[in-house]
Amino acid sequence: MKWDIIPQKFIADAMLGKFAKKLRFLGIDIKYCPDIRDDELIKIAIKEKRILISSDKNLCERNLIKKRAFYIEMGTLEEKIEKFLNEFSKYIDIKPFSRCSVCNEELLEIKKEKVKNLVPPYVYKNHKFFKICPRCKRIYWRGTHLKNINQFLENFKDDL
Ligand SMILES: [Zn+2]
Repeated sequence: MKWDIIPQKFIADAMLGKFAKKLRFLGIDIKYCPDIRDDELIKIAIKEKRILISSDKNLCERNLIKKRAFYIEMGTLEEKIEKFLNEFSKYIDIKPFSRCSVCNEELLEIKKEKVKNLVPPYVYKNHKFFKICPRCKRIYWRGTHLKNINQFLENFKDDL
């Protein structure tokens, strides 16, 4: 294996905010800290056993992080995700609807009665299962996002 750890957790550089958010919708543990310096990024990657995902080739080639960095060149969001999944999908479980897209926390189940006043009425009426982020308290339900993701994964499978 070209990695020095099993690549199951990730950290994205400042250029990859949307990318990180999208991957969290797939349940992937990816930290995103846009306001920190490169050496901080490297420190976190090493300390927390995360693979650094970066669009900065020089950063990826630094000795300290070489075996733990994955370079993603600029391109469309779909291209980046495809490149990521091509490399890492064999090491990770894809679990949509399991992680907060904003804080990267794992979602907890919450009873339908409890979200009545927290989601739009049509969502409450049409959905049975809800989850909540323990950090930011956002409520999630299986909605359009999931459909988009499934569609995306379907397309992706065709390419394999
Ligand atoms: Zn959250």
